[in-house]
Amino acid sequence: MVRTLALFGATGSIGQNTLQILRMYRHQFRLVAFSFHRNVDLAREIAREFQPRWIVSTGTSDLQELEGIPVLYGKEGLQEVAAQPDVDIVLVATAGTIGVFPTLTALEHGKRVALANKETLVAFGPAVKPKMAAGKLIPVDSEHSALFQLVEGRKEEVVEVYLTASGGPFRTTPLEALRNVTPEQALRHPTWRMGKKITIDSATLMNKGLEVIEAHFLFDVSPDQIRVVIHPQSIVHALVYLRDSSALAHLGYPDMKIPIQYALTYPERWPTEIQPLNLPEIGHLTFEALDMEKFRLLALAYTALKEGNTAPCVLNAANEEAVYAFLEGKIGFLDIPKVVEHVLEERVREGITGEDLDSLLFADRWARAHARSVIQRLAS
Ligand code: NDP
Ligand code: MG
Repeated sequence: MVRTLALFGATGSIGQNTLQILRMYRHQFRLVAFSFHRNVDLAREIAREFQPRWIVSTGTSDLQELEGIPVLYGKEGLQEVAAQPDVDIVLVATAGTIGVFPTLTALEHGKRVALANKETLVAFGPAVKPKMAAGKLIPVDSEHSALFQLVEGRKEEVVEVYLTASGGPFRTTPLEALRNVTPEQALRHPTWRMGKKITIDSATLMNKGLEVIEAHFLFDVSPDQIRVVIHPQSIVHALVYLRDSSALAHLGYPDMKIPIQYALTYPERWPTEIQPLNLPEIGHLTFEALDMEKFRLLALAYTALKEGNTAPCVLNAANEEAVYAFLEGKIGFLDIPKVVEHVLEERVREGITGEDLDSLLFADRWARAHARSVIQRLAS
């Protein structure tokens, strides 16, 4: 049986890894639709190679067709494709908040959503959670894919879940020295190759904070049950601690093709092109406690999760604005947590609340506008 796939964010890092898998399993999967944002040249190449039925452009609106294939636009285009009866799996790997729209549509139509996009659960978790039972949401992120496999069938026995973090490029850099970090230094991730935004989030450990929030919505675990441990080799992706004081871990080389493929083939497991773990070659697996003072954004993510309501949404939006401002050289590395903390505090003062999609979309816009004014002040 051929599985049909809509791949949103095909031109990105997750998107390109996914296309590699489709090349390997040409007869098992068919790409029926994909989206891109600005990279028209790469979109044209993908269109030529995979000959999908639809293309969605979320960034440019002056194309009627690409390689003779009709082009749809924006979030409406993503939703239209996600609702098509002949789309089996919707893989959401766009950057940004737009991911929530096709995710909700696909779930409402009872489809499988392979979810890479972080914003969907972090910012809109309260609105997405009630829809999760209608379809099947399978996480793509390596830590959550690992937890998904570890938790399945033993939810009652799980006491705590552990996410591992590589610690990023500044694991051993003292806090004072982080002040003058440049975007180039922050973009040098030791183990994973990813898009720019998530790479900066990995350097600040906000990426782990966003993952803590996602884990809460995916696995029904409270903030106190979610722990983070530094593991520089990125071989162990996650662990579950069980009630008999044993623990189970999920291991693999840091290559996104493994969790992406699992989200596509679940509940089956198919061979990948990645070599099996060579333990003697790896030699050491080490673990370290985390310095929450240094990685302040992770502490803020826990605070936001405990506050709930619009707090994670505001945290995510303020962080995104701050990360792009840092990449553009407007603010320093240590200004990123300052922006986020300020906007989170202002959320409480201004009473920005609500758990439905519209309230969360409002909170997202409000937080971005507020973050931009804080950034402007810091930059001047
Ligand atoms: P990239 O930056 O490499 O790619 C982003 C993709 O989304 C591209 O196809 C891009 O199009 C498109 N895009 C960019 N901006 C927008 C927008 N405003 N609206 C719609 N589409 C947009 O990111 P990654 O592939 O690294 O990450 C994608 C998502 O997956 C993120 O949410 C990230 O947090 C998450 N993720 C990524 C992991 C990784 O290993 N890379 C691991 C776990 C999660 P174009 O290039 O054409 O402009
Ligand atoms: Mg991850």
